[in-house]
Amino acid sequence: MKHYPVVIVGAGPAGLTAAYELSKREIPAIVLEQADKVGGISRTETYKGYRFDIGGHRFFTKVSEVQQIWEEILGTEFIKVPRLSRIYYRGKFYSYPLSIFNALSNLGIAASTLILLSYLKSRFSRKLNLTREPETFEEWVIDRFGERLYRIFFKTYTEKVWGIPCSEIRADWAAQRIQGMSLKSAVMNALFGSQNAKSLIKEFNYPILGPGMMWERCRKFWRLKEPRCI
Ligand SMILES: Cc1cc2nc3c(=O)[nH]c(=O)nc-3n(C[C@H](O)[C@H](O)[C@H](O)COP(=O)(O)OP(=O)(O)OC[C@H]3O[C@@H](n4cnc5c(N)ncnc54)[C@H](O)[C@@H]3O)c2cc1C
Repeated sequence: MKHYPVVIVGAGPAGLTAAYELSKREIPAIVLEQADKVGGISRTETYKGYRFDIGGHRFFTKVSEVQQIWEEILGTEFIKVPRLSRIYYRGKFYSYPLSIFNALSNLGIAASTLILLSYLKSRFSRKLNLTREPETFEEWVIDRFGERLYRIFFKTYTEKVWGIPCSEIRADWAAQRIQGMSLKSAVMNALFGSQNAKSLIKEFNYPILGPGMMWERCRKFWRLKEPRCI
């Protein structure tokens, strides 16, 4: 049966994966991309011969079909790497997600005391109903961690990564990204361990030349399989 080409807007992971899957079914696709590179925000840029990820990308899924697609595309160039995420702040490394003892010992007694006081202020304001229900990312994080910790870690990091002021990101997005985390639970987990602590993956897959490699290869692979779609 003859298929008309499917037009896909955007050669990010979604667009290219769609084209890749269509090509397996012998359905032609035309992918329109405005940038000079594929991969969308999962691309890898090069500068003076060095490769930089736009954002550190982990390839981790519980969906076997997705894992299979990635392995088909990259084969042995899709390797397993240990997970280590840290924030570099004022000359020191901070575990990410935040480990409370690591953060407090790096910050020192004075800053830690101010963070604790700011946290207590937020908690009391909430208890006494002095603040409204958080509507933005900024309000949500201040409500749970206090203003000081928000300004030190969350604000700069989030605005740099997502390019949007925290006061314009909705609170439900924060609740979903920073699930089950609060200063109180972080301290309790650190002191006593917790049955409910969200387990973090210890390792993940990664293309040997960065995430962009997945999408550059996907594009090539798809073109070879379906030359009519170029
Ligand atoms: C800092 C950061 C870290 C991340 N870490 C991870 C991670 O570890 N693991 C993970 O799985 N995900 C991660 N993500 C999320 C992941 O990058 C996105 O889910 C994924 O890139 C979305 O793919 P997409 O194709 O839907 O959109 P995009 O990647 O945004 O791609 C859209 C493409 O469409 C193009 N486009 C848009 N409009 C037009 C138009 N009108 N005409 C032509 N072209 C157009 C754009 O130029 C772009 O190339 C991270 C994201 C960020 C920002």
